[in-house]
Amino acid sequence: MSRLSTKHGLTIGCREQHAIPNYEEVPVYDFIILGGGILGMSTAMQLAKAYPGRRLLLVEKEAGAARHQTGHNSGVIHAGVYYTPGSLKARFCFRGNRATKAFCDTHGIRYDECGKLLVATNALEMERMRALWERTAANGLEREWLEADALREREPSITGIGGIFVPSSGIVDYGEVTRAMAGEFERLGGEIRYSTEVIGVQERSREVVVETPQGGITGKFLVTCSGLMADRVVRMLGETPGFTICPFRGEYYRLPEKHNQIVNHLIYPIPDPAMPFLGVHLTRMIDGSVTVGPNAVLALKREGYRKSDVSLSDMARMFTHPGILKVLMANLRPGLIEMKNSLYKQGYLEEIRKYCPNLTVDDLEPYPAGVRAQAVSREGKLVDDFLFVDTRRTVNVCNAPSPAATSALPIGEYIVGRVKERLADMC
Ligand SMILES: Cc1cc2nc3c(=O)[nH]c(=O)nc-3n(C[C@H](O)[C@H](O)[C@H](O)COP(=O)(O)OP(=O)(O)OC[C@H]3O[C@@H](n4cnc5c(N)ncnc54)[C@H](O)[C@@H]3O)c2cc1C
Repeated sequence: MSRLSTKHGLTIGCREQHAIPNYEEVPVYDFIILGGGILGMSTAMQLAKAYPGRRLLLVEKEAGAARHQTGHNSGVIHAGVYYTPGSLKARFCFRGNRATKAFCDTHGIRYDECGKLLVATNALEMERMRALWERTAANGLEREWLEADALREREPSITGIGGIFVPSSGIVDYGEVTRAMAGEFERLGGEIRYSTEVIGVQERSREVVVETPQGGITGKFLVTCSGLMADRVVRMLGETPGFTICPFRGEYYRLPEKHNQIVNHLIYPIPDPAMPFLGVHLTRMIDGSVTVGPNAVLALKREGYRKSDVSLSDMARMFTHPGILKVLMANLRPGLIEMKNSLYKQGYLEEIRKYCPNLTVDDLEPYPAGVRAQAVSREGKLVDDFLFVDTRRTVNVCNAPSPAATSALPIGEYIVGRVKERLADMC
């Protein structure tokens, strides 16, 4: 094990508030962060700010940042419409909306505050929309109720019997945001090692050893933001996670360029409250194109972006997990409809034609899919809120689905707070 020189804070002991304990033999890094998605980068950047002069290392198995969920999403800066008031999702999304825009302003990243329109197409959706209206009030959002005429005026290509307009929703490229965070982390002295997969973790009384094919790396504290691998990383720590990650592929299409102006805002259906995902929406992307999607299909491989991607070991683990089996049984009908629409373009199209009737099947051009990491409890519940699991020397992000990209800055800040608490407990 390597030693840390005094320049890295050896002489700072527990007298300093939240100081890192001082040992005779100390590890190389003060903090190791696992995962080069937006949550890992946000946390790394904010840890580097909170602990200037300390040695920080971020490890990522891919050759660059944002190669998984962060680089394969809708790019929406959510406002916080749907989330249970008071939940971490509601609180972090609300703050994250503003924080993301402020970060983009500081770093010269393009975003568009284009606003979002939720559209009801029948009486049941209208009833659900009223409940959402109450929820948006509870979540402190500025919004506008639109009757059918006002809706048509705002969006001539969209058909509905009413809508809610939320002006603070926007769009951005989260890959670009993450790369800017990486740049900021390095500017503050942090080190990044790409193409470095963590294959084991040993938590000892005075250190954490992260095992990689290139050798062990020792740190005093570890934060993991491993997305689709969150349960496996917790298992590496010797813990039995009370959840497993269920991968749901979100498939998109892109509209042809002639439709780039088809909508002025982001257009969302009114979601079924029993379903964890938002339904297929029309999303203006920051490059000017418009995408349709994502659906939610069970992926047969953790990082399986194509329909043909299958991992027998991932499938064996999934289909023997009691929680996942319960979720699949409880959602058999909608699950089968999603699968059918995934294989049958016309079925997918009908989901959009409910509110955008002029689109045809020829308008659906290929676009890369994303895979969501959704935690499922042993009891068969889709974990709704963000979930974190701590051990003595680690903090682990275990459930961070949408709106976690929007919420990345407050989540990073929250993790820094948890790290400080853990370090204070050690003193
Ligand atoms: C289809 C889709 C649409 C979405 N739309 C939106 C949206 O519009 N707005 C929004 O706010 N959110 C959205 N989300 C959610 C958002 O993208 C994620 O919540 C967010 O990107 C999670 O970031 P992360 O850093 O936790 O995960 P990831 O981006 O998946 O990063 C995890 C990283 O950990 C690395 N890793 C894992 N295991 C190891 C290991 N053993 N060793 C080393 N590295 C490892 C992975 O390679 C990966 O780079 C969407 C997600 C999907 C899939």
